[in-house]
Amino acid sequence: MTALADNFAAIQARIAAACARAGRARDTVQLVAVSKLHPPEAIRAAWALGQRDFGENYAQELRDKHAALGGVLAGIRWHAIGPVQPKNAKYVARAAHTFHALERLDVAAELSKRRTGAPLRCLLEVNVGAEATKAGLAPAAVEAFAQQVKALPNLVLVGLTCLPPASEDPEASRVHFKTLKALADSLGLAELSMGSTQDFEVAIEEGATLIRVGTALFGERPAATKPGT
Ligand SMILES: *Cc1c(COP(=O)(O)O)cnc(C)c1O
Repeated sequence: MTALADNFAAIQARIAAACARAGRARDTVQLVAVSKLHPPEAIRAAWALGQRDFGENYAQELRDKHAALGGVLAGIRWHAIGPVQPKNAKYVARAAHTFHALERLDVAAELSKRRTGAPLRCLLEVNVGAEATKAGLAPAAVEAFAQQVKALPNLVLVGLTCLPPASEDPEASRVHFKTLKALADSLGLAELSMGSTQDFEVAIEEGATLIRVGTALFGERPAATKPGT
């Protein structure tokens, strides 16, 4: 087996074990393979193993990969997982199945204006760790923002996202995942996008429905200049 196939099998086994520990059915958790900064060939290879959901951070990179692969790899679903600038929202509106990082009303308006076809599934990004350097809404601001998003015709609000502070210890994320879950429950939102390589098993135990895993699947990302967001 290739390294990718080994990694994929190992992640699937870890997801299944975490679901079993949490008493959850395996099909309540979706793996989003975070392919940002990896070449299209990496996406093709993961698709060949059966992976269909891919996460991209940068709007222009999403645009380019969608153009290259969208019509080629049957059943592929693109998840835009990073914040986007209003001028690039059109790329997300065209390519994405789900947008995980909504936190600006001007972006929401632009996405709704540009979206055609099925409404874009959106999750609001919440800055659970109150980190000054990180994007996302303060938990106290989420409800009012959600009401404004719900008024837009071509978006459908489905859940919340978080990216807890980086830590070597997966347990450090648990309190943040609990916060996000409680907030989503209070708003009646079903989808919880939380957990990455550092902490996806804890996220599953705390109710994640979408986990975003890059490094554990594809290896370290190539160090490149960040494409436009
Ligand atoms: C890059 C990224 C991930 C994946 O991180 P890994 O540590 O490589 O699993 C998940 N979520 C967001 C928002 C990211 O930017």
